[in-house]
Amino acid sequence: MSSDSSQPGADNAQGTVPKWQPPRNTKGAGGTSPQVEKALVDVRSKIYPRSVKGVFARWRIWMVYFTQIIFYGLPWLEWHGRQAVLFDLLERKFYIFGMILWPQDVIYLTVLLLISAFSLFLFTAMAGRLFCGYACPQTVYTEIFMWVERKVEGDRLARIRLDEQAWNARKLRLKATKHFLWIVIALWTGFTFIGYFAPIRELGGELIALSLGPWQWFWLLFYAFATWGNAGFMREAVCKYMCPYARFQSAMVDSDTFVVTYDFVRGETRGGRSRKIDHKEAGMGDCVDCSLCVQVCPTGIDIRDGLQYMCIGCGACVDVCDQVMDKMGYEKGLIRYTSERAIKERMTQPQVRRRMLRPRVLSYILILAVICGAFVYTLATRTPMRVDVIRDRGALGREVPGGMIENVFRLQVINTSEEAMELQLSVTGLEGARIHLTENGQDHIHVAPAGNRLLPVVVQVPISSAKPGLYDISIQAIGEHEGGRKTYVNERSSFYIPQ
Ligand code: SF4
Ligand code: SF4
Repeated sequence: MSSDSSQPGADNAQGTVPKWQPPRNTKGAGGTSPQVEKALVDVRSKIYPRSVKGVFARWRIWMVYFTQIIFYGLPWLEWHGRQAVLFDLLERKFYIFGMILWPQDVIYLTVLLLISAFSLFLFTAMAGRLFCGYACPQTVYTEIFMWVERKVEGDRLARIRLDEQAWNARKLRLKATKHFLWIVIALWTGFTFIGYFAPIRELGGELIALSLGPWQWFWLLFYAFATWGNAGFMREAVCKYMCPYARFQSAMVDSDTFVVTYDFVRGETRGGRSRKIDHKEAGMGDCVDCSLCVQVCPTGIDIRDGLQYMCIGCGACVDVCDQVMDKMGYEKGLIRYTSERAIKERMTQPQVRRRMLRPRVLSYILILAVICGAFVYTLATRTPMRVDVIRDRGALGREVPGGMIENVFRLQVINTSEEAMELQLSVTGLEGARIHLTENGQDHIHVAPAGNRLLPVVVQVPISSAKPGLYDISIQAIGEHEGGRKTYVNERSSFYIPQ
């Protein structure tokens, strides 16, 4: 980026574009870039983010409430006398309110993953790492843990002093209180997590009686430990060094993406000054170089160095810089959500928003709309029963008393609804063909709500109906659910008549 006054919008509040530009990744004398050296120092040093109030801080708090009410509350919701959302791995059934998914329905989960992926692409192309800043579990739990830390140990300076001082009774008490509260939250989070995979009310009783199974103990403690470690200690390191999304987001972000950006045209030349002087006359920009934007940053970066992959787009620096601008009597928005192009070309916010709907974004919206439409359509038209016919390869056709040839099949019937179902069987394709269950000789079956039955059935045809050979047949199943709803399934198979 060069300061080219011929660029559209090159004029700024000071009249010309300043010489300062975001630094580039230049190699140091030793072959290691200064950024790499800085990163190595960053890994070793702890970050003490300062608390901040403002519009985006409020949004973050609301998002913590929103996501956590859903996460902690959902497993306790009841639906038709059972847990509303339960991924029952033992029974291999996923209950999601009125919908029951079976292993055969894995396509729906695949489509859900596709929808999530394209939503992420869309939001990233439009507004960068919005998900990271407001809804990512790492950010949300770090926010909760930092809130506890601030309540127990105090704000930034108090925490720095506490960490620097020698161990004494007060420090021990504060640290023990903080960790106790963190561990309680982490254990509750672990318990809630396993409550999505086994009925949570029964789990609660078993937990109180300390009689959980070994795998339940393992996952509860593992998830609790991961929460405690990631939100209490790893924090920004997860976003900076472990999160793969941070690495590939650059492929989705372009110069029209809305990201947290420092307006270097307006802000430079930065520097301290008295509120009384006319800083523009003195050749200064709006940045007073107070470093508050760095102090509030949960990942410890300086947004004035330009867009960095470590920025999670939380907006904390926007809030604090707006407060500084207010105090100085300057216009807000020195750091704001905008695009790189808007800063360079001095575009207005309406112009920037119009640029949001560019071809890449429109194509993501189109793909997403098609996938969502197909998903909703297939779910709405999904039959409430599934019938699979499997030929018994161990028993080929044989002659039975009464002048009949019989073939044995296995019938898998799944009732995907929550109403009991009566299933009537019939067979076509060969003259005189009839079908019945091996166990009772009947041609109808009762299937319980959300039931799954695997039943041997027999198809018989008169010997005189066809010559030896293999014939196509169709097995029909008509399911009648409580309430009178009828479903029809036709399964093709083959019938063997021996010599
Ligand atoms: S908070 Fe604003 S004024 Fe202070 S250093 Fe950051 S950009 Fe400059
Ligand atoms: S630079 Fe600003 S928006 Fe980015 S992570 Fe730091 S505080 Fe949040």
